[in-house]
Amino acid sequence: MSAPVLVINSGSSSIKYQLVDGDTGAVPTSGLIEQIGQPQSVITHKTEGREHVQHESVPDHTTGLEAMVLACSAFGTPLSETGLLAVAHRVVHGGERFVQPVVIDDEVEDAIDALAELAPLHNPANLEGIRVARRLFPHLPQVAVFDTAFHATMPERAHIYAVPTEWRERHGVRRYGFHGTSHAYVSRRAAEMLGKDPKEVNVIVAHLGNGASITAVERGRSIDTSMGLTPLEGLVMGTRSGDIDPAIVFHMHRRTGASFDELDTALNKRSGMLAMTGAIDMRGIVQAASEGDQAAGTALELYCYRVRKYIGAYIAALGGADVIAFTAGVGENSAEVRARTLEPLGALGVRLDESANQAGGPIISTSDSFVTAMVVPTNEEGEIAAQTTALLRS
Ligand code: ADP
Repeated sequence: MSAPVLVINSGSSSIKYQLVDGDTGAVPTSGLIEQIGQPQSVITHKTEGREHVQHESVPDHTTGLEAMVLACSAFGTPLSETGLLAVAHRVVHGGERFVQPVVIDDEVEDAIDALAELAPLHNPANLEGIRVARRLFPHLPQVAVFDTAFHATMPERAHIYAVPTEWRERHGVRRYGFHGTSHAYVSRRAAEMLGKDPKEVNVIVAHLGNGASITAVERGRSIDTSMGLTPLEGLVMGTRSGDIDPAIVFHMHRRTGASFDELDTALNKRSGMLAMTGAIDMRGIVQAASEGDQAAGTALELYCYRVRKYIGAYIAALGGADVIAFTAGVGENSAEVRARTLEPLGALGVRLDESANQAGGPIISTSDSFVTAMVVPTNEEGEIAAQTTALLRS
């Protein structure tokens, strides 16, 4: 194994970590610390093919990352003996400035902090992980890889909102897009799996997880994506509404007196599949729909309809797509969602192979389908490690 990268994805109440070989993508060690700040946190540490689960108090991110270091020593090779190349951090919002991975110094840290205004739910948690890791690993390069970066290639027609000029010029109001690391990896990987050069194919990537977004990738470059200024725009998600008429916000404010923070929370945390079904786990929703639950059936239909509308729009944006790739928790695992999304698209050149779809692909369209539909597992940590390794070797 060459020098590995420690990839950290720091959320508000969880930290995911992976030790990744930036050249081979091998993952000898990974883990998840959940319910940080709760009385009882859960640390799940995987190494050498074994899983170790501990329940203990992890009051904050400092304790969390210290617990990670201890778990590495207790159950395998201490981190200090792995010859770490760097610590890489997933950062959700890079704004207009960060369109490439960057080595973190105090000034970069301040800039990520300033961008919290655009991503109040994400950047502060990412930054917390960065601050703690810089203290714990002071001699290692720390690199930030941004979810927005891949979408920096979007043309103006895709990233400008038709809003007052000063909103755009003074307040950073534009479309940025997210899940970029996943869209970059999956679009490239789909081409590779078909034996094609990523620069020769147009790929639509549907990243359907708890958060969901879809991207039109033209010959390796993002030209449009469904998330916007924040991850709220676009597809229907676990707890987010996706596209709505923005006037709903004013309407509800006027009618109920709800504050803008309350409305923000309602659209980000109490909408989407949760609002329509009472649940966010797509497995349960698909199951309930198959058993005749009407709310689940309607929500599932709406979810797939929204994905399908975006696919149609992006076939038009690209002037034709070669590949539609499904990825993330729902996209990789739900044949039902893929089938409901793709089946009505025959007129646009998509012909689903039902048995291949049930089997999980990777190719789920028939051999005479004009567009190739695929299932491509995402690998955000692997992509972050690869980009970090490339940056530090350049
Ligand atoms: P995150 O955005 O948190 O990274 P994931 O990509 O892990 O999310 O996706 C989580 C979602 O995937 C959950 O809603 C879960 O229900 C869904 N999921 C996982 N397996 C299946 C399955 N077999 N069928 C339908 N949905 C699934």
